[in-house]
Amino acid sequence: QQKQSDQGQNNNNDQGVANYPTEQKIIEEKTENKVTGEKIIKKYSRGKLLGSGGFAKCYEVIAQDTDPKAIFAAKIIPKSTLTKSRQRVKLISEIKIHKSLHHKNIVQFEHVFEDHDNVYILLELCPYQTLNELIKRRKRITEYETQIYVMQIVNALKYLHQNKIIHRDLKLGNLFLGDNMTLKIGDFGLATKMEYEGEKKKTVCGTPNYIAPEILEGKDGHSYEVDMWSLGVIIYTLLIGKPPFETKDVRTTYKRIKMNNYCFPEQIQISDNAKSIITSILNLNPQKRPTLDELLEHPFMQGTALNPENLPISSLVVPFQKS
Ligand code: ADP
Repeated sequence: QQKQSDQGQNNNNDQGVANYPTEQKIIEEKTENKVTGEKIIKKYSRGKLLGSGGFAKCYEVIAQDTDPKAIFAAKIIPKSTLTKSRQRVKLISEIKIHKSLHHKNIVQFEHVFEDHDNVYILLELCPYQTLNELIKRRKRITEYETQIYVMQIVNALKYLHQNKIIHRDLKLGNLFLGDNMTLKIGDFGLATKMEYEGEKKKTVCGTPNYIAPEILEGKDGHSYEVDMWSLGVIIYTLLIGKPPFETKDVRTTYKRIKMNNYCFPEQIQISDNAKSIITSILNLNPQKRPTLDELLEHPFMQGTALNPENLPISSLVVPFQKS
């Protein structure tokens, strides 16, 4: 269940029209009215490619039968990639978990259907891509902007953890920017639901740069604290411009994670509060990491109650300053 890259292949942006399939394909969803037996066909037209992941390709789709026309992101998974029962179980788990979630800082699951060839997952469209593309464009962002994003991530994580769900794959590429630049956590492909108090999960999963040390050690299992570790890696990456444990090969990265071997580069100025929040989260002992509520009490997050909820669209390309 491990992913090779943090970034996925992103075929979107910059290429404009080249992203549009030459044929404007129509996707049909066939259902039957259970009472009358009448056949119903809903049509969606497939628009531009938003990106591609492990198995799925994600396209913009427009529902043809709604007024005004509803627009979604459709994750299209070819059934030919679901030959192993493990892959089917994983997809069913992703759908079950994601379907149950309703929160403004989580990509909304809209609908799922299938035809002969594919499974289609319709999601809320996030038009401003992810924090991964943002950091590629901006290199790094300000502490003020980071606070605003962290606040939204913490809101989503509180909701997830209250609902006994661990995301297990938090990274810049899974933090989407929806309407109004609202941050939304997406991709529940590695998420898991805790069945009982004190349960420890044993599956090794995550994305190399963001994976928590207890997952790599494997012996005692892991729990909610792995999401907090990834949030520490995210904060560092937003402020410094590259992940703290990144090296050229995965094995060295894992060694560095297990030894908690990272540093703050001298040439990049960040405040003592910023260093302190990162250091407090990146603790090898999961029990010593702050809880979500404790994180909001950290001096780095002080004053955030007065911040705007979202950042403006201009911050996709230039820093947003505190006025
Ligand atoms: P994976 O799970 O392999 O990372 P996904 O299939 O979830 O990949 O998504 C592939 C790509 O599609 C993402 O990297 C992103 O660029 C794009 N994408 C996914 N979901 C959305 C969405 N809700 N709105 C806009 N783009 C999306």
